[in-house]
Amino acid sequence: MYDLMIIGSGPAGISAALTAKARNLNFIWFGSRALSTKIEKAEKIMNYPGLPTVTGSEMQSVFLKQIDDCGITITEAQVNSIYDCGGYFAAGAENEIYEAKSVIMTVGMTTTREIEGEARLLGCGVSYCATCDGALYKNKDIAVICASPKFEDEVTFLAGLANHIYLFTPYKETSLQYDNITHFNGLPASVDGDKKVASVTFKGEAIPVSGASS
Ligand SMILES: Cc1cc2nc3c(=O)[nH]c(=O)nc-3n(C[C@H](O)[C@H](O)[C@H](O)COP(=O)(O)OP(=O)(O)OC[C@H]3O[C@@H](n4cnc5c(N)ncnc54)[C@H](O)[C@@H]3O)c2cc1C
Repeated sequence: MYDLMIIGSGPAGISAALTAKARNLNFIWFGSRALSTKIEKAEKIMNYPGLPTVTGSEMQSVFLKQIDDCGITITEAQVNSIYDCGGYFAAGAENEIYEAKSVIMTVGMTTTREIEGEARLLGCGVSYCATCDGALYKNKDIAVICASPKFEDEVTFLAGLANHIYLFTPYKETSLQYDNITHFNGLPASVDGDKKVASVTFKGEAIPVSGASS
């Protein structure tokens, strides 16, 4: 019976594991030494305290070193079930059952409804975070997909950085009135480019852009 079980090895899981170690808990941590595909794919990270301007793989190396230096082990297994056993929890992973008094789930989140080319060009011009990646597109033309008017603040932020925004929305009207935003009702059919985003295709027409943000 462990004090704690941590599931997931992204930045949140790493923080939980470091704290559990500092508190001398008897814990098991499920994830992988690759840590997180999101970290791996990040082109350039500029907002992490203590690590100014690092690539995803540089951040991954620093995280792994800290984990190893602290003597923390990652159990490389996928957890596929968790049961509340009344007072403790049981988790199933690769034909084994593990028990702990507490569980911290740091499994991240997944996005859905991919556009053709989106996954392939993730980290190569495709981005999901205006605050994190906006500066990469300063004075450039970009495509922005905004799923709901409630996220339009993010588009306003990007409009202050980019040269021109091609804004795609599933809804018809937008309150955004900027000279450097062209609004289309609908979503692009694909994000195109060889190693980097070069354009998006909308209604059969290729629109040249340097990045695509959703
Ligand atoms: C291209 C790109 C660039 C980014 N750039 C920045 C940036 O510059 N600045 C910034 O602040 N953020 C950036 N982000 C966002 C940042 O990467 C995420 O916010 C962060 O990784 C979330 O951390 P997390 O620990 O919550 O989840 P994740 O990083 O998603 O980690 C979750 C982990 O849990 C594992 N897992 C899930 N289910 C199970 C299970 N059942 N059993 C075992 N393991 C499991 C997953 O495999 C994964 O390793 C970027 C993201 C991407 C994709």
